Amino acid sequence: MKKKEIKNETCPPVVVVLGHVDHGKSSLIEKVKEIKITEKESGGITQHIGAYQIEHSFSSEGGKKKKKKITFLDTPGHEAFKAIRSRGARVADIAILVIAAEEGVKPQTKEAISYIKKTGIPLIVVLNKTDKSEANPEKVKRELIKEEIIVESMGGKIPSVEVSAKTGKGISELLEMILLLSEMEDIRADLECKVEGVVLESSLNCRRGPMATFLIKKGVLKKGDILATFSTFGKVKILEDFQGKLIEKVFPSTPCVVFGFQKVPKAGEKFKLFDSIEDARCYVESECKKEEEREVIDNQPGKKIINLILKGDVEGSLEAIEGVLKNLPQEKVTLRILKKETGNINESDIKLACSSNAKVICFRVKVDPIAEKLALRDNVNILKFDVIYDLSQQIRNLMTSVLKPEIKREELAEVKVLAIFRTEKKRQIVGGKVIDGRVIPGSNIEVIRNEEIIGEGKVVGLQKDKKEALFAKKGEDCGVLYEGNERIEEGDILHVYKKEKIKVEL
Ligand code: GDP
Repeated sequence: MKKKEIKNETCPPVVVVLGHVDHGKSSLIEKVKEIKITEKESGGITQHIGAYQIEHSFSSEGGKKKKKKITFLDTPGHEAFKAIRSRGARVADIAILVIAAEEGVKPQTKEAISYIKKTGIPLIVVLNKTDKSEANPEKVKRELIKEEIIVESMGGKIPSVEVSAKTGKGISELLEMILLLSEMEDIRADLECKVEGVVLESSLNCRRGPMATFLIKKGVLKKGDILATFSTFGKVKILEDFQGKLIEKVFPSTPCVVFGFQKVPKAGEKFKLFDSIEDARCYVESECKKEEEREVIDNQPGKKIINLILKGDVEGSLEAIEGVLKNLPQEKVTLRILKKETGNINESDIKLACSSNAKVICFRVKVDPIAEKLALRDNVNILKFDVIYDLSQQIRNLMTSVLKPEIKREELAEVKVLAIFRTEKKRQIVGGKVIDGRVIPGSNIEVIRNEEIIGEGKVVGLQKDKKEALFAKKGEDCGVLYEGNERIEEGDILHVYKKEKIKVEL
């Protein structure tokens, strides 16, 4: 019998793995995959899509054995997680804090702790590398107290488990702990509402076009659904699970791969369901405009900010660049340097640029291939220079381009309409007398009736004595070929004017 889709059903926990570099985050993620998927299921995982799902048995509160799913985000480290979070999406339900038991609390462990505290997601401490003779889990637990992380065996509330990502010891216990915690947290999602979720990863597949890994947060995603993120839209043409198997629908907390988008969506973007492609297109157009505006964050009225990441060959170059940038006028647009560093442009520069909408300045250095790919995918702008003068010119142009041009209006003429010669759908030929000024073809028209503006249009052609004319001046009769939405009537007054965009100086 087909299972009925109930509102707010429990769903698998989504787990993110955080911790200091080399403490074994990737090894742990891989080990879980190896134990739970590769050996047991046909096919295993052939491609990395940013997340995978496993099934594990555990003893629930009543002592009964239950089988439940867990979704792992398989991009370790809080950098990637932060990039997703920076776009406002809550992705993970449970954080795993990996600490190598022979090393203890390190700077990135502290960073991860402060990050977990800020997001408020429940946490499990994983003491890894316990196969090593130097491992000292008790010492690490004591160190954690200083960080206000008190594990259960120390009288606190935070669960902890000793594992070895090398041998697999403790992994099963960890999975059980995740399921118990998720049962306590009671993770649920609405299945009946419109589907919503987050883009975890994306890329351009040379055969199948834009490809994106989605994590469903609520609702059920179905093949054929019309979706849009902030930057792109499309119809779900192909839907696959994390192992590349074709599927028809996906439930919350479950990763899937989607093909059918017009462009590659950005990692961390949220997606929503739309009734028609037209609605989805309109949404993207309006959101793109907002994104452009967000690119230069307004924090003071009338003032814009451009975020920059500077990468250069030597310290001297960086100082020189900073000096040149400081000398650019910044009353209307401020330049904010988020990072200044020597060396090639790497993945973390692009991630920072992506999460802060910054431009990356590349001065006499190279871009790492992975960073190049990432920048292309996430539309991060890398501005490359060899000469400081070019850099200053281009940044000045960039600053000017974010200032909106001023529109100046110049009044040209007033024409009284004496006759209507011809009326088509959006065009009319009208005859009139120039009461004041000079009419020229190409200018704009306001149609005035009873002293009120009733419509707008353009002078697309002008005639005098039935011949094309370049102008018609005060006192002259003329024929105006008008294009506009409102119909002109005899007796109307036409205000003729010119609009000019004036570039604003810095
Ligand atoms: P990450 O930077 O946190 O993702 O760390 P990795 O997973 O890349 O692991 C760093 C190094 O530690 C690698 O050489 C791993 O083989 C090793 N490693 C990871 N987990 C264990 C473990 O449980 N025991 C031992 N002995 N080595 C481990």
